[in-house]
Amino acid sequence: MKEHGIFERYGLTRVINVSGTMTGLGASRVVPEAIKAGAEIQSHFVRIDDLQAKASEVIASMTGAEAGFVAACSAAGMSQCISGSMTGSNLNRIESLPNTDGLPDEVVIQAGHLINYGAPVSQAISLTGARIIPLGTAALVNFYNLEDCIGEKTAAALYVVSHHVVQEGQIELEEFISICRDRDVPVIVDMASEYDLRSPIEMGADVVIYSSHKFLGGPTGGIVAGRKKLIRAAYLQNRGICRHMKIGKEGIAGTIAALEAWENRDHKSAYDREQGYVNYWRKVLGDVDGLLPDIHHDWTGNPITRLKVSVIPDDAGLFAWELADRLSAGEPSIQVRDDLIEHGYFFLDPCNLLPGEEIVAGQRIAEEVALARRRGDGRRYSFSERRRRSVEALLKWPDLL
Ligand SMILES: *Cc1c(COP(=O)(O)O)cnc(C)c1O
Repeated sequence: MKEHGIFERYGLTRVINVSGTMTGLGASRVVPEAIKAGAEIQSHFVRIDDLQAKASEVIASMTGAEAGFVAACSAAGMSQCISGSMTGSNLNRIESLPNTDGLPDEVVIQAGHLINYGAPVSQAISLTGARIIPLGTAALVNFYNLEDCIGEKTAAALYVVSHHVVQEGQIELEEFISICRDRDVPVIVDMASEYDLRSPIEMGADVVIYSSHKFLGGPTGGIVAGRKKLIRAAYLQNRGICRHMKIGKEGIAGTIAALEAWENRDHKSAYDREQGYVNYWRKVLGDVDGLLPDIHHDWTGNPITRLKVSVIPDDAGLFAWELADRLSAGEPSIQVRDDLIEHGYFFLDPCNLLPGEEIVAGQRIAEEVALARRRGDGRRYSFSERRRRSVEALLKWPDLL
């Protein structure tokens, strides 16, 4: 029980995370190399510019970019790069944001990319003082929308790669980059959750951004890589509005270590272990009345195979979201991936699990369904009702339940 010391000390509920890397759950399990590096630097002074220059070297070698730095998170990195695309390295302009008088201040982005990753991407743009120029409509945008919206005032183009974006009717990254390059507009690519560290730079993107705390298992941070001139202009925003999004020495050192560890990790055996969890769940849940498990490959091609679990309310005796809520309310709290749950299914994500947790999660799911069938106490509230309740609960914080 020693490893759970802090949970007892602070009276916290233990969580089994089968939802993936979620900010609201503490993102990911930080790899030992990053914990060690972060802890090591905590009790020392270091010139942050030196540490960030070292980060630049490591980020450049791993992404193929000219330079890089560590931001507070991906959202901060986006604001920082958009600011840099407006001000360049002019320190007076940097101190003057969000006043953009006399600067190019328009950011073009496909309407279907204006998503919410916990906060709206539009806010990462607009808080810098930039103006958003949405291209096309949610599920349909064509090359001419982009071509026609680029003009004198365009500072940058933002492109989001994610399962959150509308998946059809969008301009592909390669074409997007090519149109912008012909017009000298820098392209900033949000790859926060994507494993592919090299393709966007190879395609000619000017900046690409990853979260340190997601698949890499780093501390909270944003990895920003790209052309040196724009990277420098973005980095200098630490003397301006990005002072409000400060990364500390432990986050920078931990991110460098996480990147190095990623290169040395045995990805094949990690994937095989995760597959074992998914196969176990498929077997156990396949025997439960009312559940239909199915293998699901990642939406954007990341090497993650999840289990999609459809809940048939008439047979299972409860709705998918009721099952998710009952799993969450238990001890340990089991958190399934529920962002598409209104469709009647959820996902089990095997990343970051400790051996044995898959069994606890799988058995609890089977038990909750059996219990609901026996008691007949399910199918009580709709998805809209659930959403309303969750907002109500949020608005009571710090008073919990
Ligand atoms: C997670 C995510 C973000 C936010 O990343 P943070 O590092 O937590 O700020 C932005 N964009 C996408 C596509 C994401 O998945």
